[in-house]
Amino acid sequence: FRFSRRPDIGDKIRVSFEFFPPKNDEMEARLWDTVTRLEPLRPKFVSVTYGAGGSTRERTARTVKRILTETALTPAAHMTCVNAARHEVDAVVQEFADMGVKRFVALRGDPAEGVGAAYQPHPDGYANGAELVGALKGIGDFDISVSAYPEKHPESPDFATDFDMLKRKADNGATRAITQFFFDNDLYERYVEKARRAGIYIPIVPGILPVHNFTQVANFSSRCGALVPAWLAERFDGLQNDPQTHALVASAVAAEQVLDLVERGVGDFHFYTMNRADLVFAICHMIGIRSHEVEAAGSAAA
Ligand code: FAD
Repeated sequence: FRFSRRPDIGDKIRVSFEFFPPKNDEMEARLWDTVTRLEPLRPKFVSVTYGAGGSTRERTARTVKRILTETALTPAAHMTCVNAARHEVDAVVQEFADMGVKRFVALRGDPAEGVGAAYQPHPDGYANGAELVGALKGIGDFDISVSAYPEKHPESPDFATDFDMLKRKADNGATRAITQFFFDNDLYERYVEKARRAGIYIPIVPGILPVHNFTQVANFSSRCGALVPAWLAERFDGLQNDPQTHALVASAVAAEQVLDLVERGVGDFHFYTMNRADLVFAICHMIGIRSHEVEAAGSAAA
């Protein structure tokens, strides 16, 4: 009997959702529709990204604050080291902590010029994710997620360098790693096995990207080093102008991936929602996660 078909499967699975801070009123309205739709699924936490080069600092803070005050969700604030001295990063972390934030996603970040440009640490800044984790732990006893790359970080010369960095992040106090999105579950499974052999024991939660727009995902994947398998391209072939079928195929593809990971024993999933609810809601439903009555704002356990 396949585990993914057990009636109690939803009790064993925990999910988290990632949002990005909206740029304008229209995007803000869409984000809040999404938050309202996904909130009853009671995710473990919802995270809010920090723009390249720290460019969304105010918007990230505003979104996190709204989640804290208007929902029962537990927010996690993404933080990066880009273009900021240590005392500036520490001050932003303290602002979040004063607001009541207890969870962070700690990242080095990409240069303001975008993915692929050479990374230059700020002369007085934190050089990488591991240093940022150490700094966060010095400020408070936070739950800290960090990044992991099943297909290797594009700047990294080899997996060993990546594992060194991930181990440093774990040793400095990271609670869990969340992976870059991937489409080949074998790569993820091999990566987790290698991480364990490298002495990294924190949970490595798969980051799942439902394919809202295949062309955009393919472009983005080539920049961040994630492989788009030929079979995936084949599935979306010819659907560029057929959004309905594209959405049906996307939900089938993501459900297939997630259910296969469940069969492999994975119990935690992080969804890159792209501020859209439908695909994520459908996939959560498939893995047994049901809506619950929404509690009063701010009542969620930390
Ligand atoms: P690190 O963990 O510090 O380093 C990543 C890898 O780069 C290391 O494993 C190492 O192999 C290599 N490396 C780093 N420094 C060196 C060095 N000096 N020499 C050799 N190799 C080195 N970006 C944002 O801007 N905002 C976000 O909110 C955001 N959220 C993210 C959430 C998740 C779950 C993930 C997976 C990524 C996210 N990113 C975000 C993207 C991330 O910032 C980029 O991938 C960035 O290039 C690396 O950041 P990091 O924290 O992974 O870096």
